[in-house]
Amino acid sequence: MKAYDGMYIGGSWRPAAGTDTISVVNPADEQVIATVPAGTAEDVDAAVRAARAALPGWAATPPAGRAAYITALRDLLVARTDEIAETVTAELGAPIALSQRVHVGLPVMVAGSYAELAVTYPFEEKLGNSAVLMEPVGVVGAITPWNYPLHQIVAKVAPALAAGCTIVVKPAEDTPLTARLFAELVHETGLPAGVFNLVTGLGPVAGQALAEHEDVDLVSFTGSTAVGRRIGAIAGAAVKRVALELGGKSANVILPSADLAKAVKVGVANVMSNSGQTCSAWTRMLVHTDQYDEAVELAKAAVAAYAAGDPHDPANRLGPLVNAKQRTRVLGYLEKGVADGARVVAGGPEAPHPTGYYVAPTVFADVTPDMTIAQEEIFGPVVSLLRYEDEEDALRIANGTVYGLAGAVWAGDENEAVAFARRMDTGQVDINGGRFNVVAPFGGHKQSGVGRELGAHGLTEYLQTKSLQL
Ligand code: NAP
Ligand code: MG
Repeated sequence: MKAYDGMYIGGSWRPAAGTDTISVVNPADEQVIATVPAGTAEDVDAAVRAARAALPGWAATPPAGRAAYITALRDLLVARTDEIAETVTAELGAPIALSQRVHVGLPVMVAGSYAELAVTYPFEEKLGNSAVLMEPVGVVGAITPWNYPLHQIVAKVAPALAAGCTIVVKPAEDTPLTARLFAELVHETGLPAGVFNLVTGLGPVAGQALAEHEDVDLVSFTGSTAVGRRIGAIAGAAVKRVALELGGKSANVILPSADLAKAVKVGVANVMSNSGQTCSAWTRMLVHTDQYDEAVELAKAAVAAYAAGDPHDPANRLGPLVNAKQRTRVLGYLEKGVADGARVVAGGPEAPHPTGYYVAPTVFADVTPDMTIAQEEIFGPVVSLLRYEDEEDALRIANGTVYGLAGAVWAGDENEAVAFARRMDTGQVDINGGRFNVVAPFGGHKQSGVGRELGAHGLTEYLQTKSLQL
């Protein structure tokens, strides 16, 4: 057990204003592995002041200079991969191979993409007799979730730095150790004091204080729709910019002409990755009624490859959920699914291990579009198979939730899949297993959010225009 202290504010680790702490638990064995300070409004205020003081100097640093720090940060992420991956596995419970490949690998690519964008993005544009300047929005308050603890931070910090903004991060209470390690790496780059600041703490205390702080110009939030709605209201009342990256209930649409076996296998893998804790996961698999029984058997076979257990054992492709509350929540959905008439064909509510917050990888069949498990975000290793009669029916079901974050379409012919995807109300669609692209805009339609992350589109969230008429 390690007791960490201090907040990273104004370029150094400063004692927290209060004495409260947060216990960090390893979800695989339920042991407390560390404590970190629980920040208060006072800590948030100190961090925002530091960010404000650093803003003029950072905003005036030429893009190539800003890019050099982002590159240095990227290189440190690469050099410290093992240590970061161990930290993510310890506090999140992700299988170690996934921690290396995705939890560290993805932020490395994102940081690299912003180091490049900082020098290639045209921060000035000519429009008729105007010069349009893209200037940094100012001080950013970033509130991040636990499911991709490093990625969610880097997806905000890297574009903020590239844009010339300064930033205060409030990471999730469940995963503050990855955030602290990130702050140490930022420090090692020699980034000017106050450009990046970290305040660990609870959402309703430190998070809310950050969202409400009058000297924060943009609140960038990723997490639940319930909290996102409150943050949007706070930002609206203060007339400040806001970006909300919220939940999802994405559809994996398998058209009759598709390679069914491949579509089901990749679809199950997509949901089981990160133990089902991915906002963009394709948790609803839509299959034509004539192929439904075959798809159920294929899903059952595919899910058998996901043994839940010790995330350090490479044989286990599924770790525990992040905490006891999430497990209770997911088990509640499993019970609700059964009560509503869905059929468990694999997994179910029985715990695979006596300790650790494990949930068995679960496949539900006979799920109908109106069931709670087909409408609400479960955030666990649970995939639901729904039947459709024809393409119009599939489209109605795919679009029939309040969310619209991601999705997939499979067809024998790419054009057929693309034509379907064009009619989907969602922010991202993978065609026949198309790979994740770190420069493609990521974000939601409908209640999945406001704004976009990643690539040039993500960068513009951190910029505001000024037009000079010449
Ligand atoms: P959450 O409560 O929305 O947490 C996200 C972030 O917001 C955390 O840093 C959290 O702090 C903070 N926060 C909480 N209440 C706040 C408030 N009143 N004001 C300002 N900040 C606040 O999400 P969660 O409890 O971790 O997970 C609940 C559900 O959210 C999940 O089951 C899942 O459905 C969804 N979720 C979605 C995503 C996504 O990527 N879209 C990610 C994670 C979770 P604390 O850590 O202290 O709560
Ligand atoms: Mg929470």
